[in-house]
Amino acid sequence: MDIAERFGVGYDGIIHTNGYLLDQEMVDFLEARNVRTAIVPIDGMGAAHDATRHLAGGGPTFDVIMGNLRSIRTSMFVNVRNNLHAGSLERFGELCEAVDTIARENGTNIRCSPSRVKRTAAGVARGDTTPIISEAQYERALARTDLPAKMRSFTPVMAPCPAALPNEVHIDELCNVFPHCSFYSDDPSYSVGNLLDADGSAGAWLSKLEERAKELCFPDDQSRCLACKFLPCCLGGCPIQRIESGEPECPSALFDPDAYAIARVREVG
Ligand code: SF4
Ligand code: SF4
Repeated sequence: MDIAERFGVGYDGIIHTNGYLLDQEMVDFLEARNVRTAIVPIDGMGAAHDATRHLAGGGPTFDVIMGNLRSIRTSMFVNVRNNLHAGSLERFGELCEAVDTIARENGTNIRCSPSRVKRTAAGVARGDTTPIISEAQYERALARTDLPAKMRSFTPVMAPCPAALPNEVHIDELCNVFPHCSFYSDDPSYSVGNLLDADGSAGAWLSKLEERAKELCFPDDQSRCLACKFLPCCLGGCPIQRIESGEPECPSALFDPDAYAIARVREVG
């Protein structure tokens, strides 16, 4: 913050947190350091969340986290990332409702953003067995909610995602530099280098990052996307998933375009 002030540039922060320690004291601490957004992943209601996001000793966390979200008073934007998998799908609407209630009653700028859990090669190697759902199941779940249609990931975009932008990076605790993607940043094969090994030249980093962005944006086989009438909207879906599976990952709205169109019409009146 001192450096930003000295050079007259803006600075604010986002924290990804499990929410377990996000009480009022922590919120005040973060706000004083200009953290403007907190992203809190929830893997489902109650036991569904506790099955995957428990304490190191196995204890539950859901009630503490929801209690924190209900009790805090904050000007931060709180994004509850609702991770959807086969175990959390059924009670997905209840979580949205619980979060909406907090927004209504506390005036918190809080929102539930559903996100489909993906299977990654690094996750499988770690023994991840989370039962995932298909894009079609995901879209059907979203269609049952009042979430804005634009959250169904099918609006025109300038790039498929932040991972495909050369000026956005993720740096891990060992100084490895990755494309900006929290799903794949534990997989060394997507790293573009390590800050400690770097020659210090900004130009060298930029060309490495541009090279990686190009690989992500333009895979060898683009024939299916090039023949698709939705191309200008989705730009080929998740680029890393496409590399891993060899197939584009079509946006969920594609599986129920009527529901998507109706929701969009409602949204714009
Ligand atoms: S690479 Fe895929 S998972 Fe990662 S940010 Fe982009 S769309 Fe999301
Ligand atoms: S990812 Fe699917 S919807 Fe998007 S352009 Fe490719 S084929 Fe079409």
